[in-house]
Amino acid sequence: MKPNQFAVIGLGRFGSSLANELIALGYEVLGIDRDQEAVDELQDTLTHAVAADATDETVLRSLGIRNLDCVVVAIGDDIQASIMTAILLKDMGVKMVVAKALSAMHGKVLNKIGVDRVIYPERDMGVRVAHQLVSPNLLDYIELSQQYTIAELSVPKKLSGQSLRQLNTRAKYGCSIVAINKRAGMIIAPTADDSVEESDIMVVIGTNQQVDDFETALHR
Ligand code: ATP
Repeated sequence: MKPNQFAVIGLGRFGSSLANELIALGYEVLGIDRDQEAVDELQDTLTHAVAADATDETVLRSLGIRNLDCVVVAIGDDIQASIMTAILLKDMGVKMVVAKALSAMHGKVLNKIGVDRVIYPERDMGVRVAHQLVSPNLLDYIELSQQYTIAELSVPKKLSGQSLRQLNTRAKYGCSIVAINKRAGMIIAPTADDSVEESDIMVVIGTNQQVDDFETALHR
């Protein structure tokens, strides 16, 4: 089931950005931070914002946190508080607990105590930015598995007007163009006769190597 009601515990840079975005997407968000200033800042934006210590079980229970669909522990520096909060949430029966880890060891502990999803924002963003810096046409990507990637690639001027038949990516690089995002709209599962223009974005699927080979050819 899709989560509708969220809590974000720890309204630092990461937690507040996450909470604001969930609100912008139309979801209900309870924000919790032990720092009153952090709470005041988001008081008018979030559905509810409460100043409280999340390691206090009584507080978590009184806020009815158990009934929410997803709770994100966005406490970083205070690893002890992050772990204690995550244990309390799992013990209370929260369906989906997501927690931010600052290090591999922190993440390992969170996994061990049963956190449903551990995220490493700094590490992952570093990796992502590195890929984008060395691949000028790469706008974004998702690693489907260790081997397969789906990537958004911008169309360079030199390919403008070419059909997928002419691009011939499957034969040349092994990867497939599964969608073309054009100003006029998205073409899903394009045919060989569909063509790409300079401002378009190609959605490409293949092995990491195949996608990388195609991306390299775009700016060679
Ligand atoms: P960011 O990078 O997102 O700014 P960070 O990784 O540096 O954050 P912290 O600043 O340590 O992490 O924590 C984020 C927020 O979590 C802070 O606003 C802090 O007040 C809050 N916080 C820390 N411990 C608790 C706790 N026990 N209960 C509630 N909030 C807490």
